[in-house]
Amino acid sequence: MTIDRGGVFSNALQMIGNTPMIELKRLDTGCCRLFGKLELLNPTGSIKDRIALNMILTAEEEGKLKPGQTIVEATAGNTGLGLALVAAQKGYPLLIIMPDKMSMEKEYNLTAMGAKVIRTRSDVVKGHPEYYQDLAASIAKEKGAFYINQFANPANVEAHVKTTGPEIWQQLDGKVDAFVCGVGSGGTLSGVGRYLKAQNASIEIVLADPEGSILAPLHNTGERIEPKRWLVEGIGEDFIPDICDLSLIDHAYTIPDKSAMLTARELLAKEGIMAGSSTGTLLSAALNYCHQQTEPKNVVTLLCDTGTRYLSKMYNDEWMKQQGFIE
Ligand code: PMP
Repeated sequence: MTIDRGGVFSNALQMIGNTPMIELKRLDTGCCRLFGKLELLNPTGSIKDRIALNMILTAEEEGKLKPGQTIVEATAGNTGLGLALVAAQKGYPLLIIMPDKMSMEKEYNLTAMGAKVIRTRSDVVKGHPEYYQDLAASIAKEKGAFYINQFANPANVEAHVKTTGPEIWQQLDGKVDAFVCGVGSGGTLSGVGRYLKAQNASIEIVLADPEGSILAPLHNTGERIEPKRWLVEGIGEDFIPDICDLSLIDHAYTIPDKSAMLTARELLAKEGIMAGSSTGTLLSAALNYCHQQTEPKNVVTLLCDTGTRYLSKMYNDEWMKQQGFIE
């Protein structure tokens, strides 16, 4: 099926979702076919526009968000950008709490869109008052603001059950064997995973997890490791978010930062698509999965956000050399 992106929209919020899909034919996918859904073509450049819209609409419907009330969110940046678009269109001030490891491009972009950004420590875990989610909750309480909390908000999962999952199913005419995704909040995994398995229980859900995150080791060994620092932005966890349904996962791959970033650069070099670091993690895991198959399969993954957000990092050779990722 082809998705019609033509026609005239009457506002930017209508342009969220219905993203195109590309078959990645220039990557070595073994006996499988690999498809990437271009989430970077959402209006603010990431998959998170979908949840930003649904979380705000749901909070309005449920009467939890009052006209003109400040919205607070803890985010790696992309949810913040989606919220900045929706909040500005609907007249809500926005305060973003973002860990200091996230790129400056995201902060500049958020500020340009009218959000206020507070940076906090990346080296503390949940339960610490300076951890971004704990800080967002306490600031929201203090200011009488609405903490939208993507990590525990069912409207995050629902956005993917209602839109991302059905779009994937329709675009591939139901011929999906595996779906590869990462976990930041777990919204994508839980929503797309739940939708696809309801259509066909034999579809395999594959987790792509940065090295240092607790999720893939938990799936593969049952043990909860001490989280270690990683550089990929937006995925990987040091705790299990309330909305994250790990029981949907069939296979999990741990992907080092270096593989993720080199794979994202390979996507740009070979396919001409400039995506972000989490896309590199997903693609690297998807290629591992493809190479382990002995029969042809249709594998789908997400091209989560735009690479222009990482020009000072992953697409900067000097930065890549400093990390020891290239010579
Ligand atoms: N990729 C990027 C770039 C992200 O910002 C996020 C969300 N933080 C994800 C993937 C993961 O999505 P989810 O929150 O649905 O698990």
